[in-house]
Amino acid sequence: MSRKALCIAHLYPDLLNLYADRGNIAVLRRRLEWRGYEVEVVRVTHSETPDFSRYHLVLLGGGSDREQAIVAEKLRACAPAFRSAVQDGLPVLAICGGYQLLGEYYQLPSGEKVPGIALVDMVTEASPDAPRLIGNIAVWSDEAGVIVGFENHGGRTRHSHRPLGRVLHGHGNDGVSGHEGLRHLNIWGTYVHGPLLPKNPALADAVLRDALAYAHLPDHLEPLDDRLEREARTAFVSLRMEDVAPMLRTEAESR
Ligand code: GLN
Repeated sequence: MSRKALCIAHLYPDLLNLYADRGNIAVLRRRLEWRGYEVEVVRVTHSETPDFSRYHLVLLGGGSDREQAIVAEKLRACAPAFRSAVQDGLPVLAICGGYQLLGEYYQLPSGEKVPGIALVDMVTEASPDAPRLIGNIAVWSDEAGVIVGFENHGGRTRHSHRPLGRVLHGHGNDGVSGHEGLRHLNIWGTYVHGPLLPKNPALADAVLRDALAYAHLPDHLEPLDDRLEREARTAFVSLRMEDVAPMLRTEAESR
């Protein structure tokens, strides 16, 4: 690989890939290639052991409770190496089920607790009496502007870190706090599926900048022609979340 290669690990793509989460990998790869970087994507399936010393960015997608329990065991087995790389600045993008497993535990509606890897000070609890949090979601993030997508989770998440953003429409971490996702070290945690990054190019670039800096590569990203992405955002929001539309208009005007 050339001097400019960046290595992205997709952890457990065979188990965690709800709502096309692998689309996030396609976006990360293309946005780097369009800027002249070489990219290596390593798919680490559940029968393999991740090598955290090789990666510059780790992606974990979402999954059902059943798949999460399998992944949790795999993650716990490599947690010390994962934790130490993250402490050193390894960026992680974790979506929904993957996000939940970064915390201390995910409590299933039955009351059983699936232990996570305690990378962050966070717990997630689902209850048979509380409805799932489902629907379109929009979030305001100081780092990436308006983030749009879809959420579907039974778990309610509480943590002591800063959130990724503030809920503009939808539920977010727990449906009541107004907080969505998590930011700590170079960890980006979120409930937004859909997949997340195709409709949110500013967020994709923010995550990539972390990864490039971690890889000691130049992290100035030339602007790309994001007209199609902006049209997708506008169409999605105007069809599904009219209350968020004025914020996207302001965003478009500020370009
Ligand atoms: N199984 C988890 C929950 O229901 C995560 C779901 C997901 O990844 N969409 O809370």
